[in-house]
Amino acid sequence: MPEPSESKLRVLIPRDKIHARIQEMGEQIHKDYPEGPIYMIGILKGSWIFLADLVRAIPRHVRVEFIGISSYGRGKTSSGEVRLTKDIDVSLEGMDIIVVEDIVDTGVTLTYLIHLLEQRKPRSIKVATLLDKPSRRLRPIQATYCGFTVPDEFVVGYGLDFAEDYRNLPEICVVE
Ligand code: 5GP
Repeated sequence: MPEPSESKLRVLIPRDKIHARIQEMGEQIHKDYPEGPIYMIGILKGSWIFLADLVRAIPRHVRVEFIGISSYGRGKTSSGEVRLTKDIDVSLEGMDIIVVEDIVDTGVTLTYLIHLLEQRKPRSIKVATLLDKPSRRLRPIQATYCGFTVPDEFVVGYGLDFAEDYRNLPEICVVE
C-alpha cells in the first residue's frame, strides 16, 4: 500500500455541493423535531467537521457531545472490532438524540453504538450521516438523514482520514 503522502486523490463531491446538502439536512432536522433541545452526538474523529457545519445549519437549541468509537486500524480496512474509546458523561434519559457519523459502511459501528445508547433511555435516537456506502452493509441499519450515497471506494476529506491524513481536505475525495 502506498504511503498516504504518495496516494493520488480524485474529487468525488466538491465543497459547494457538500455545503448546500448540509444546509438542507439542517433545515429538515429543524422541521422534524418538536420544541426542546436535540443532543447531537458526534462520533470521533471522522464526524467533527460535518457536525460543526450541521449544527450551524439547524436554527434552534442543540447540545453537542462526542463519543469515541474505534473500529478501523491505521489503513483502509476495518479491524472488525468495535471499541468504546471515549464515553459521554451527561445523562441522555428522555432526550432526543441524533448520532452524527461521517460514513456508514458495514453498519457495525452504528449498530453497536445505538445498542449502547438505547440502554441510557433517551426519548428518541436517529442517525445523521454525511456519507452512506450501502453496498457494503452487513447490518440492516439506515440513517434517517443522509448527505450522499457513495460507491464502494475509500474516501477521505471533510473529516475522513487515511491513516490520520487528509481530514482537512475541504472536499470528499477518493484515494486511488
Ligand atoms: P462501519 O462500522 O459502518 O463499517 O464503519 C464506519 C466507520 O468506518 C466510519 O465511521 C469510518 O471511520 C470508517 N470508514 C468506512 N468507510 C470509510 C471510507 O471510505 N473512508 C474512511 N476514511 N473511513 C471509512
